[in-house]
Amino acid sequence: MGTVYEELRARLAEIADLSRVLELLFWDQRTMMPAGAAPARADQLATLNRITYERLTSEEIGRLLEEVRDEEESLDYDSLEASQIRVARRDYEKARRVPPELRSEIVRTAVLALPAWEQARRSSDFSIFLPHLEQTFALRREYVACFDKPDEDYDVLLDDYEPGMKTAEVRAVFDVLKRELGPLIAEVAEYAAAIDASFLAGPFPAEAQKAFELEVLDAFGFTAESWRIDDTVHPFASSGGIRDIRLTTRHLHHELSVFASMHEFGHGLYEHGVAPELERTLVGRGVSLGIHESQSRMWENLVGRSRPFWRHFFPSLRRAFPDQLAKVDAESFYRAVNKIEPSLIRIEADEVTYNMHIALRFELEQQLLDETLAPADVPEAWNAKMAEYLGIEVPDVADGVLQDMHWAGGYVGYFPTYTLGNVVSAQIWERMQADVPDIDERIERADFSALRDWLREHLHALGRKFTPRETLERVVGGPLDPGPHVAYLKAKAADLYGL
Ligand code: ZN
Repeated sequence: MGTVYEELRARLAEIADLSRVLELLFWDQRTMMPAGAAPARADQLATLNRITYERLTSEEIGRLLEEVRDEEESLDYDSLEASQIRVARRDYEKARRVPPELRSEIVRTAVLALPAWEQARRSSDFSIFLPHLEQTFALRREYVACFDKPDEDYDVLLDDYEPGMKTAEVRAVFDVLKRELGPLIAEVAEYAAAIDASFLAGPFPAEAQKAFELEVLDAFGFTAESWRIDDTVHPFASSGGIRDIRLTTRHLHHELSVFASMHEFGHGLYEHGVAPELERTLVGRGVSLGIHESQSRMWENLVGRSRPFWRHFFPSLRRAFPDQLAKVDAESFYRAVNKIEPSLIRIEADEVTYNMHIALRFELEQQLLDETLAPADVPEAWNAKMAEYLGIEVPDVADGVLQDMHWAGGYVGYFPTYTLGNVVSAQIWERMQADVPDIDERIERADFSALRDWLREHLHALGRKFTPRETLERVVGGPLDPGPHVAYLKAKAADLYGL
């Protein structure tokens, strides 16, 4: 490669380094940092964020991206060099569109909105959060106006989390899910009462939870060489590099942490499986939030809520909690952790009703953005959709519209990626099964190597070299399709309830 690419590569490597340092500072803040360090850390994060952004949007990067065009023409589309140039050009052009003042205003608004949201939620008083919600959506509209006129304004926000995805495509997925899952939810309502899940409330002492969760993660492929797991308040996964994967979890007496830990493992495994030559480039990460979520949901649900998984691991879980699970066997445990039942809180929802929680948020966000719904009317609209989609009456705003922090944090367009993750996880699973037909027997032996290897070879190694659309096409051989997810959920419900 010529010298222009080499110069560009060296500059992008520094930007990649800065992003990793930001991520480690964030991880430290949520796991290790003493509370008193918060103001200093906020300054440090703001400074490093600004430097990273200035480097990416610098005239120098712009000049190199122009000068590299000649070399680029001779490159193979699949090569690391061509991919890195494409991705850098896209990141650069997108970042340059938004004036630094608007960027700061968005950050500042979120900094004020988050504590207001917490207070509103504590006192179940929507009016405390209302002015912040108005401001958040006003700024989102300004943000949208920075870009060329899209098909729909929401496309611009979606693109931050799922590059290239259109609102119309996501709407089509939700239309299928609502049509197929709505009747299923109504049908299973009468059976849910017959499944006893009361033992899932514990108590589960932390030490025994940690030991069990490590047994599962070790079998999955967690190694001390490249991974850590630490306690936090709201679990997440982050990474300081391909060989530096940091999971977080929490241990509450009334919930089994292993499901959240398996979820975060899926995120971590994706980052760990990126091809080593992509380290210190802009393409050495997972490709989008939706595809990332497909990996976490796969390990949490398709593996971690499966019958073969619990046939293997339930005896060990019962040894960890002999009193709590004395009268439970593997089959009744499997049924309990898969119980389908409409509920108020998204993060506690089962695999079927979860998508309805997301449909509701996706629809309200679009209405708020195009001003067909006033922020003041959101609680009423929320409650009406909860009644329509899930037959649930919302008792108060704390457990209704104020249950999630996303809008307070300025994350609009993020919610749909959860459902995209569910949909894509089933597509990938179906494709993987064609190559690993004995996956159930393997899971029952706690042998996850074939699954891990398949995912690395077909998806993880690619990093961000291709767009999410191209990546999905390469992995499953087709476009986004809710069919496999619907079929999986229907089969599971049929099996659980004998429908
Ligand atoms: Zn996740």
